[in-house]
Amino acid sequence: MSGETAGRWGRAVVVGGGFAGLVAARVLADRFDEVTVLEQDQVTPETGVHPHAPQGWHAHALLAKGAEVLERLFPGLRAELREQGAPVYDYGERVSFLLPTGYAPRARTGVLIQSFTRDLLERGIRRRVLTLPQVRSVAPVRCEQLTAGPDGRVTGVRYRVLGDEGAGAGAAAGAELVELEADLVVDASGRSGRLEDRLRAFGVHAPAPRVLDARITYTTVHLPRPDGLDYDVAYQMTFAPGIPRGGVLLAVEHGRWTCSLFGYGDQTPPTDPEGYLDFAHSLGNPHLGEQLADRAGGEPVHRYTNVNSRWFQYHRSHDWPERLVSLGDAVCVFDPVYGQGLTVAALEADLLRRMLAERRDAGKGLDGLARRYQRGVARVVLAPWTVSGNSDLMWDPEHRPLGARIAHAYNRRLFAAAVHDPAVWARFARVVNMVASPATLFHPSVLAKVLRPGADRRAASTLPAGTPHPAPAQAGAQSVSAGQAGADASD
Ligand SMILES: Cc1cc2nc3c(=O)[nH]c(=O)nc-3n(C[C@H](O)[C@H](O)[C@H](O)COP(=O)(O)OP(=O)(O)OC[C@H]3O[C@@H](n4cnc5c(N)ncnc54)[C@H](O)[C@@H]3O)c2cc1C
Repeated sequence: MSGETAGRWGRAVVVGGGFAGLVAARVLADRFDEVTVLEQDQVTPETGVHPHAPQGWHAHALLAKGAEVLERLFPGLRAELREQGAPVYDYGERVSFLLPTGYAPRARTGVLIQSFTRDLLERGIRRRVLTLPQVRSVAPVRCEQLTAGPDGRVTGVRYRVLGDEGAGAGAAAGAELVELEADLVVDASGRSGRLEDRLRAFGVHAPAPRVLDARITYTTVHLPRPDGLDYDVAYQMTFAPGIPRGGVLLAVEHGRWTCSLFGYGDQTPPTDPEGYLDFAHSLGNPHLGEQLADRAGGEPVHRYTNVNSRWFQYHRSHDWPERLVSLGDAVCVFDPVYGQGLTVAALEADLLRRMLAERRDAGKGLDGLARRYQRGVARVVLAPWTVSGNSDLMWDPEHRPLGARIAHAYNRRLFAAAVHDPAVWARFARVVNMVASPATLFHPSVLAKVLRPGADRRAASTLPAGTPHPAPAQAGAQSVSAGQAGADASD
């Protein structure tokens, strides 16, 4: 399409105006004259949760690394969210965190986090992105096809207008497909976006995704939060095979809690008030039941079942076309309990920013970017996928690869050490927040504590009273279709 002006490229088209698409649009606006965001839901600058991103109702933790990247891309975002009541606190000081081995120490970790609803976050980002002069939102439209030039490179997309509201979409609802040319197409169509279908129609053979069965069901309510508590988060983590139930009470904006209860397999949190409260009382961390006990009832209840974790390894595709890149859940859907998706999407958008800047500085064009970018995405995904995947593999008593068993046993000993040792806990906090490498947990000073004889027995004896310990058969055991979580990120 159009060439370049003053060191900028012409048009980028972003498929999907959810979290990843918006952050990508922010980055693209620095380098392209026009950034068109295509979204199938009717969205305005004020839209938060929308039909094709229903996970927005559920508790979302933004890891410290993700917050750091977002603050760089959207300066002042943290303060803006804080003005609306989203608390900022140290991960160790104001979190009542129940590990499988007991409570984490309530001590400073140096990891600063902020909690809010995903709704507030997406609205804050959408408002900022849509006011950028380069960015144009076209909704509701569904991108259906990629278009190609004679050399096979992607030249744009074709979309269908979905509703009469599709102002500025270039056609009436339901009419012919509208063609839009682009110098770069960024697919951020999320977990339901089906990029693989568009690729197949385009003649590209995407390798089959790696899939881990992680069927976890969330049930969520929002309720008022009383003043004067000494915690902003109350959490009980799940841990295979004995702790298939968990939950989180997350302090969010406007003096409210988001409460998400979750369970693996058939451990589904009920939606009726009594059943919901009973499930909360069955957890070892009593704060969830305490806060729900005074619930007025009648609040909307939201449920989401995660079908599996799925990683499309597009970096392995031999015929991946030029001028197409993909990020966010369209590439990799993680088990939500590990809170990784937003941070990984932010890191991938930041990677795109850096790669575009490098090409500009080196006087290179956009050809050659797409495959390199997908390889970079794979490197971003690999560590969080391995961490969460190794834990999820342990739900299936039949198929627990050796690597996952070793990692799991190490984690268990690590947790046993952490509940007595604030320094170990602080390291763990940095790793789960992605501000430190997992290698930090194998530092000699940690190894000595974790591998000390008897550490595992100590772990068993410190399990908190009340933590449910169903037999493995009840523990949400799932079949796993991937051999082992760790995957090769090379091409
Ligand atoms: C229950 C639950 C809890 C979670 N908790 C956390 C958490 O605590 N922390 C965390 O970091 N992550 C969490 N996640 C993950 C997080 O929600 C996702 O990683 C994140 O939303 C991914 O954003 P995305 O933009 O890639 O995808 P999405 O949010 O799914 O957005 C994709 C967008 O693309 C649009 N779209 C799709 N196809 C088309 C098309 N053909 N044409 C036009 N538009 C299209 C959709 O309408 C949608 O708006 C959780 C997920 C779930 C399910």
